[in-house]
Amino acid sequence: MESILSLQQVSKTFKSGNRLLTVLDNVSFSVPKGATLSIVGPSGSGKTTLLGLCAGLDRCSSGRVVLQNNHLEKLNEDQLAAVRNKYIGFIFQNFQLMPTLTAIENVMVPLELRGEKKVRARAMELLDKVGIADRSHHYPAQLSGGEQQRVSIARAFCNRPGILFADEPTGNLDAETSEKIVSLIFDLNKEAGTTLVLVTHDGDLAAKTQRIIHLKGGKIVSDKPTILTA
Ligand code: ADP
Repeated sequence: MESILSLQQVSKTFKSGNRLLTVLDNVSFSVPKGATLSIVGPSGSGKTTLLGLCAGLDRCSSGRVVLQNNHLEKLNEDQLAAVRNKYIGFIFQNFQLMPTLTAIENVMVPLELRGEKKVRARAMELLDKVGIADRSHHYPAQLSGGEQQRVSIARAFCNRPGILFADEPTGNLDAETSEKIVSLIFDLNKEAGTTLVLVTHDGDLAAKTQRIIHLKGGKIVSDKPTILTA
């Protein structure tokens, strides 16, 4: 099956004082279009760094990241931004909403960047889909964690991404909100065939994806299909 994402011998090092810290060490895997995948592992194992490299938010030190036939390491910053805007949705661990913009304005930003028309109507439609149309004119500081996460999901969905990356999408949420957020994300996979790549500590969430990659010390220690129960 055609891959939407492929990593070939990817390593990432950071400078720490005069030492070189290897955070990802020779990581390779491919994700077929429409698949669902979780990346799990202890804190500090490199999960967030890996997600950032896959989504073109950061660059690898060596190796290749190919996303929808684009070799990310060969692209300049503008080209990378264009690929992100065209194919990728990203749900950040701490939402990363712009504090000076209202909920609807946060969702409108990527639509405006794409030069779309009727952006307000489309942003409203998305806020409605995630169940917070009535909070559209609130600023992030006036919203609960769950509401902010919904805005960040609406923003991630707005470009109809081929692939959605989510970093601990349920990390800061209570059980009930978390369940709703998880159904929203999986609905996108079912309805639009969006590929899902999740980083999570939540074993129940990981078990809902088709495959689990386990990272430890920056290396893949297992990469297995999940036995799906539902
Ligand atoms: P995880 O998401 O699994 O908790 P991270 O990817 O956040 O792990 O971090 C992996 C390691 O890389 C940690 O030791 C972290 O301190 C280090 N690290 C992450 N980003 C940077 C950076 N920008 N500079 C230096 N070290 C970093």
